[in-house]
Amino acid sequence: MLQDLEFGRLENEYRPVPPRDSDSVLCFRGPDVLLHRQADDTLILPTVAQLAADGLRYAFRLHGTGYYLLSGEEIEAPAPFTWERARSLRQTVSKEVCFAILTGWHLHVWYKNNRLCGGCGAETVHDDRERMLRCPACGSVIFPRINPVVIAAVTDGDRLLLSRYAGRGYTSYALLAGYTEIGETLEQTVAREVMEEVGLRVKNLRYYKSQPWGVDGNILMGFFCDLDGDDTISIDETELSHAAWYPRNALPAQDDGFSLTREMIRVFGEGKEPK
Ligand SMILES: [Zn+2]
Repeated sequence: MLQDLEFGRLENEYRPVPPRDSDSVLCFRGPDVLLHRQADDTLILPTVAQLAADGLRYAFRLHGTGYYLLSGEEIEAPAPFTWERARSLRQTVSKEVCFAILTGWHLHVWYKNNRLCGGCGAETVHDDRERMLRCPACGSVIFPRINPVVIAAVTDGDRLLLSRYAGRGYTSYALLAGYTEIGETLEQTVAREVMEEVGLRVKNLRYYKSQPWGVDGNILMGFFCDLDGDDTISIDETELSHAAWYPRNALPAQDDGFSLTREMIRVFGEGKEPK
């Protein structure tokens, strides 16, 4: 998966230190991130020395390199720099750069949306010691926001339920997924989403793995579960364009090495899902 960091360890504690010239810059403007096109056409993040910009904000360290956020609104960056859509770089940059961009994007959006206190409207300030914003006027504190999402692999013996989303850019086969609502457990989210989207009851939930999905500010939590009773699928057409049972030995989706969903489909195909 994307976060399996064979390229090193993510240090996401808030330990702001001044940037070094060789550190990387996550410069966002609207939906785009600034990249540097190298002679061999590969895209990497610009370094602090290349941009020589003020206003860098510490984000995290990855494999010994510091990553700093920068607002791209005022940045002049002629070729070989290029603005690219931050959320559609999976095939174009290395896994390391992709992970850094999606994680940086999550932080960038959180900082951008919390410049002002939601309670009283005053400007917030950063805490000295941890990743937290504080309102000097009313005392509110704001921690990073991470939205919980469950992914449900509904199984029935040697069959797996696969679906396709309705009206979204992503057209590949998917597992069912949905946000946890206030007041419910993750297990209740799984049962509710499966019932809402395909009209099925489930039992025997088994937690599998999780995945940070910074481009949407989410943490994904994958569960396998068994069909309980009637297998007749009834699609919620506002959410899905397709849903059907597929046999274990003929699943129409390959593991892409990035997503939890694809890994769960592969694991079921190999008969290695938690029982
Ligand atoms: Zn306030």
